[in-house]
Amino acid sequence: MNSLFLYLRKVLKLMDKKRSEQKFYWHTHHDVLVDVEIVPIEKRIKYIKENKLKDEIELRLKLLRPVKGELPKEVVSAGKDCKKTWEDYDDKKKAWGDYLKAQRDYLEMLRDYKEEINVLHKEECPDCPWDGRSIFPNRRG
Ligand SMILES: [Zn+2]
Repeated sequence: MNSLFLYLRKVLKLMDKKRSEQKFYWHTHHDVLVDVEIVPIEKRIKYIKENKLKDEIELRLKLLRPVKGELPKEVVSAGKDCKKTWEDYDDKKKAWGDYLKAQRDYLEMLRDYKEEINVLHKEECPDCPWDGRSIFPNRRG
């Protein structure tokens, strides 16, 4: 009984650790340069395959890649807060407003560290049509 309890506690701890790890991806949306994974990325990929315009899908999936290098630690930290407040909101531990605030702080960090992020983006996403606003620079309407 006691060892089962200890085992379960260990498993829960591991799950919790996994949950709070954050991953970053390039171009989760056509108008996003880099984003922290909040909803599992597989869901986003499925959504793109099922809902986006046929002639956009290939490029969207080609550019949606995990960030391999190091983002500025302030950006990583703000992204982590963003994900954490989302999970806490999801668990009803925090209010929607807390998440929105964390998201605002995160977007501010992305702006503050724009140059560093752009350097990393150039390295990791060669031949990218991103023009600072969209991966479809000619389709703005
Ligand atoms: Zn790119």
